[in-house]
Amino acid sequence: NEPAIVIRGMNKYYEAFHALRDIDLTVEQGERIVICGPSGSGKSTLIRCINRLEEHQSGDIVVLGTSLDDNVANIDGVRREVGMVFQHFNLFPHMTVLENCALAPMLVRKWSRARAEEMAMQYLEKVQIPEQAEKFPGQLSGGQQQRVAIARALSMQPKVLLFDEPTSALDPEMISEVLDVMVSLAKEGMTMLCVTHEMGFARQVADRVIFMDRGEIIEQNAPEEFFGNP
Ligand code: ADP
Ligand code: ADP
Repeated sequence: NEPAIVIRGMNKYYEAFHALRDIDLTVEQGERIVICGPSGSGKSTLIRCINRLEEHQSGDIVVLGTSLDDNVANIDGVRREVGMVFQHFNLFPHMTVLENCALAPMLVRKWSRARAEEMAMQYLEKVQIPEQAEKFPGQLSGGQQQRVAIARALSMQPKVLLFDEPTSALDPEMISEVLDVMVSLAKEGMTMLCVTHEMGFARQVADRVIFMDRGEIIEQNAPEEFFGNP
């Protein structure tokens, strides 16, 4: 199997600010990676470069064999394979939960509404909120909204899922309901890169923990090497 993601000698600048420095990272299919490090160290920028929400300036990023060069078709292709879950959910407020989850398959895959909604219901069942399908995001708790965001990402049947601090905006009592869904995805073999401070999650599911500081990957280890054996 080709790797899910290969990054070689990648650099990212915001104007003159060097946000990512000579990043080398290979992620195998089915691997679960947790990215941690201080605020401002480039964690979010790194995963946003992987689906081209941010553009890198040098080096290579290859996702499932396709290079994220300036070829628009390549970038669109990669975005179909790479789902993303954000800290602040980013749901469409004027669409129901079901419409949020059916939209991308209808627009991108040209599925009928009926087919897209049928599939979306399956993902809402997977994240354990099928009964919220007809509600609007604002009627849900933060934990429920984030589970909708995960269902929405899954509705495109991605091969890789990126998580950018998915529990950081949640009240403490809602964190575990989101982490439980992430753990079940990990157990199903989903390739995942998760920026998170949830070290219990890292210890439970991560194959590797990557530690970033000032735009560099300064360590990558199996979780037991970070945390010691339980
Ligand atoms: P982290 O996710 O580790 O907190 P970020 O990737 O969000 O870090 O940010 C890394 C650095 O890049 C920070 O210094 C941040 O201020 C800077 N940065 C992030 N986004 C932008 C942007 N759009 N323009 C300029 N600087 C940015
Ligand atoms: P979060 O922690 O929710 O990701 P950030 O503060 O990292 O929030 O960034 C929020 C938005 O502001 C992002 O789109 C990021 O690219 C942008 N941003 C972050 N730092 C800077 C900066 N120094 N200059 C300009 N934009 C920035």
